[in-house]
Amino acid sequence: MRPLITNLMLTLLVLSGVSASAETFQVYSAAKGAYVMTEKISKTDAEWRAQLTPEQYHVTREAGTEKAYSGPLWNNHEHGTYQCVCCGLDLFRSEDKYESGTGWPSFTAPISTLNVATAPDNSLFMRRTEVLCARCAAHLGHVFNDGPAPAGQRYCMNSAALRFTPAE
Ligand code: FE
Repeated sequence: MRPLITNLMLTLLVLSGVSASAETFQVYSAAKGAYVMTEKISKTDAEWRAQLTPEQYHVTREAGTEKAYSGPLWNNHEHGTYQCVCCGLDLFRSEDKYESGTGWPSFTAPISTLNVATAPDNSLFMRRTEVLCARCAAHLGHVFNDGPAPAGQRYCMNSAALRFTPAE
């Protein structure tokens, strides 16, 4: 009886270790044109600082906001995909980008709702919904419900949180 119990406990330990180290979930991949499995990415502040510019770090890891009309992407009209500047996950497509007149890159929808996460943000005396990268939790911007019909959504993003890859 004793060896059986020991084996069961070992199995449980191994299983719990596996699930803690590899949190996999489904996202949409523009390159594959299909849904794929990926793993959550977690890094230390020092690791993010080493890989990002100070502005990219401030926006994505400290929930900062770039000055309107200051980023390189609000007026970008090229055909392609917008990815997370931190982890490269596909986030938005040019087909869903529109002129919001705000000075920030704005979209009617993410590439897939699986690729972004949202969280309530009640800072600065406002009720807003924060938008984050579903894989690395980078702060991307906010989503508002004053966007164009039919969905009525305005994903107001920071250029500093995005990397644009033109279509081939
Ligand atoms: Fe990311």
